Amino acid sequence: MPELPDVELFRRLAERHGVGEVVAKVEVLDPGSLEGATPAGLQRRLQARTLRSARRHGKVLLLEAADAAVLAFHFGTNGSLHYGPRGDPAPRFARLCLDFATGGQLAYLNPRRIGKAHFAPSASVFVRDEKLGPDVLEPSFDIAAFTAALAGRKQAIKVVLMDQAHMAGIGNIYADEILFQARLHPATPSNSLDQAVISRLFDAMKSVLQTAIDCGAGAEAFIDRLPKGFLLPERHVGGHCPRCGTPIEQEKRGGRSGYFCPTCQPAPGTRPGED
Ligand SMILES: [Zn+2]
Repeated sequence: MPELPDVELFRRLAERHGVGEVVAKVEVLDPGSLEGATPAGLQRRLQARTLRSARRHGKVLLLEAADAAVLAFHFGTNGSLHYGPRGDPAPRFARLCLDFATGGQLAYLNPRRIGKAHFAPSASVFVRDEKLGPDVLEPSFDIAAFTAALAGRKQAIKVVLMDQAHMAGIGNIYADEILFQARLHPATPSNSLDQAVISRLFDAMKSVLQTAIDCGAGAEAFIDRLPKGFLLPERHVGGHCPRCGTPIEQEKRGGRSGYFCPTCQPAPGTRPGED
């Protein structure tokens, strides 16, 4: 499922190939994947407009037109963004395409149709209406903001990390990696963490997400490029901890599978496994 690092790479693709381009035509191939406008309305709002910026907020990509209107993409379970020459037919699973005057095309692929493209009058209106918390990689989301987001919440730390209304960008996969790097059990109550542990978790969060971006999250060779000591390549039934070799354990939470090392990430209340 595309999380912050994957969406950051889609953003860079859109910035490289879409920003500064004039939209010649909007092709809505699946009206069910579009919210906030009708296909004809979207065409009216974007046609002949220049794309001014490609931004990201958490797991959402925001393409902003010259009049500040935005098309915001949620990528659902396996959506993506594709750039190429204007295709006929459009790429497989394309639900919405922006055709540029120069002949290129950005295609929003949404295979299972779980993601959505939202039209909104501006990025700030979209973020407000979606009730998104701050983007976790924004410099303004500092240790003080992170500490405040965790304070007073007794839910499992994994749930809090993934709560987009408190901090936007982290999903199931990267929550597991961040907790592994911080050596915290996913069920640890958020409000039980002392400042030293919060600080360790904060550093793990920033560095895991940045490393995943730097290694090209989502690309074919991504897993091979990750530094040694990342859980991701072993994050499956039958995997082994890259630090200590213990078999990785699976836990179900909200219908989704999580993975952790029972030795490096001992259950709350037991003695923590430190170096
Ligand atoms: Zn371990």
